[in-house]
Amino acid sequence: MTIERSANLGLANMAGCAGDGRVAIVGAGPSGSLLALALAQRGYRIDVYECRSDPRKQITGGGKSINLGLSKRGMQALQMVDLLDEVLRRAVTMRGRVIHALDGTVRFQPYGKNKDEVLHSVDRNELNRMLLEEAAQYPSVKLHMQHRLVRADKERRELEFTVAGQTVTVSTAWVIAADGAFSTMRSELQHGERADYHQEFLEWGYKELTLPAGRDGASRVDLTALHVWPRSQCLIVTHPNRNGSHTLTLLMPFDGQDSFATTQAPAEVEALFAKYFADLIPLMPDLVEQWMRHSPASLVTIRTAPWAFGDWAVLVGDACHAVYPFYGQGMNSAFEDCSVLVQMLEQCQGDRGAAFQEYELARRGHTDVLCELTKANFIELSQKVQSPWFLARKRLDLAIHRLWPEAWIPLYTMIAHTTIPYGEALKRSRRQERILLVGSALFLVFATVGTIVVYALVG
Ligand SMILES: Cc1cc2nc3c(=O)[nH]c(=O)nc-3n(C[C@H](O)[C@H](O)[C@H](O)COP(=O)(O)OP(=O)(O)OC[C@H]3O[C@@H](n4cnc5c(N)ncnc54)[C@H](O)[C@@H]3O)c2cc1C
Repeated sequence: MTIERSANLGLANMAGCAGDGRVAIVGAGPSGSLLALALAQRGYRIDVYECRSDPRKQITGGGKSINLGLSKRGMQALQMVDLLDEVLRRAVTMRGRVIHALDGTVRFQPYGKNKDEVLHSVDRNELNRMLLEEAAQYPSVKLHMQHRLVRADKERRELEFTVAGQTVTVSTAWVIAADGAFSTMRSELQHGERADYHQEFLEWGYKELTLPAGRDGASRVDLTALHVWPRSQCLIVTHPNRNGSHTLTLLMPFDGQDSFATTQAPAEVEALFAKYFADLIPLMPDLVEQWMRHSPASLVTIRTAPWAFGDWAVLVGDACHAVYPFYGQGMNSAFEDCSVLVQMLEQCQGDRGAAFQEYELARRGHTDVLCELTKANFIELSQKVQSPWFLARKRLDLAIHRLWPEAWIPLYTMIAHTTIPYGEALKRSRRQERILLVGSALFLVFATVGTIVVYALVG
């Protein structure tokens, strides 16, 4: 067993908390990498521990989605570390959704009212690599790859890792847990505490496939949009890639009729696509081979409390609030956590424990709301996007937004294109909903009374 001791434990002498010895970040996914960079830029000394091999040398992700939709909250965090322009240069802009109906007809729904209200499809690994490469340029940052956290001792302030079959224990002044939805750090920290933990798996899973570019390298469907094939029994969502291909995420139940359980043999895969996604068959000549290569993955939401453990540890990103991907907000909200945590540390006057608490207070209620919103958006994406009533309601929402852009903002716009806290966005949207309901009722009353009066006068 090796014991590594970091220098300067417990120094707290600056307006912020940068003088507090070395910080350990467990997990070098999007949140851990972004925090490593943001904190290095602010003078912190950092050790990043990641169980995978170096993401800078990997081409594909470990089973996770290949690309992600980046929106306002994530963009603001990338701006904080001065990487936004570079990320956007490598992203594909998505102006809206293209809905593919069962009969092959398509309909475009813009994401917003102007060219700024768009999403950006970014390559997950490329983004992760960029963040780590930037962070690694700081001499104050040390990256420890293939270090799997197995234990954390709150009393002794120690972390224990397995590294190539060996156990390595390190002491650290404080630690940020960014080790994802199934965080070991979280369960270690919660051990012996009055902690809440709620985890929910969706009965649907997902499989990722690729819709390749044509022979000329051009995209086979509009490249500048997210495409959706909504069906009540299954659903496809695609994100575009720079090379003209699209990453296609097929979601459906694990069990039951038309499920992953009933779609295993080549003929079953072909039958599923012929039934629900016939227009994709000619565009995906290697559909069956792709299907066989990938196993379905599950989707989980997680809510937990507390996020802060004295002045020693704090949770960020999926480690404290994993959400379903139906709002495209998992990474965006994780990045927003990072912005808020950095801001609280900057203001903490040396009191790191207070900074952690302020951060949790500012975030947890809102990410709990996001969790519920993503569940509701699953219904929207799989069922409602085709309903004429729903589409009319969306158009009305956007029309009022165009008339009064500040006073009236559709819920999706608030979530994706603003940084209005999630809970506040939901409250505002419910208020707008009530106004719309009362307005429609009054309109109906006046229209009915008017019609009766006209009939009475004429007849
Ligand atoms: C299908 C799908 C589509 C998605 N689409 C979007 C989207 O369009 N937009 C969006 O904003 N979000 C999206 N998300 C969500 C997004 O992927 C996550 O919210 C985001 O990856 C969270 O980042 P994180 O750094 O907190 O956690 P993670 O990405 O899970 O990173 C955690 C890191 O910790 C490491 N780790 C884990 N355990 C240990 C350990 N014991 N020791 C050391 N290291 C460890 C892991 O290897 C990993 O590198 C999607 C998710 C899925 C599943």
